[in-house]
Amino acid sequence: MAKDQVLRDRFLKICKGAGWKFTMQRYTIFQLIQNNTSHPTVEMIWKGVKKTIPMISPDSVYRILKDFVSIGLLRQMDGLQYVRFDCNPSVHNHLVCTGCGTVMDFETPQSFSFPELPEHFGEVDNVELRLFGQCKPCTEKAKQKQPIEPMPIGI
Ligand SMILES: [Zn+2]
Ligand SMILES: [Zn+2]
Repeated sequence: MAKDQVLRDRFLKICKGAGWKFTMQRYTIFQLIQNNTSHPTVEMIWKGVKKTIPMISPDSVYRILKDFVSIGLLRQMDGLQYVRFDCNPSVHNHLVCTGCGTVMDFETPQSFSFPELPEHFGEVDNVELRLFGQCKPCTEKAKQKQPIEPMPIGI
């Protein structure tokens, strides 16, 4: 069976389970989030879907993404400059570039130990770290922006 057919069948099952109608809009978005590690914003997904469905509105894309979140196909990432969607719904950690907004995954190191936590909180059963900094391209750009030393005048 072709890869497309396998994916289509998988999505048909998901639709059935969720009580949704199979639509090309939903399916196109589903295709776009497969093996997608870019933690896309609504706009990023919308631009991708528009290539196949030019008339689709960002609102419709957002609604479908929210539906996907509601059944655990995606995870919504809040607290960033833009809302982003994580195509890997399992628990993992993120590196966030404060320059361009790039989000990358990283695994929790084996040696990770909990910091001292306030006792009145209760119990912790999941660790999800978010580290902020600048990605490589942003670091490079910042370097280039540094003022160039003026040429010495005269000899
Ligand atoms: Zn960056
Ligand atoms: Zn992630």
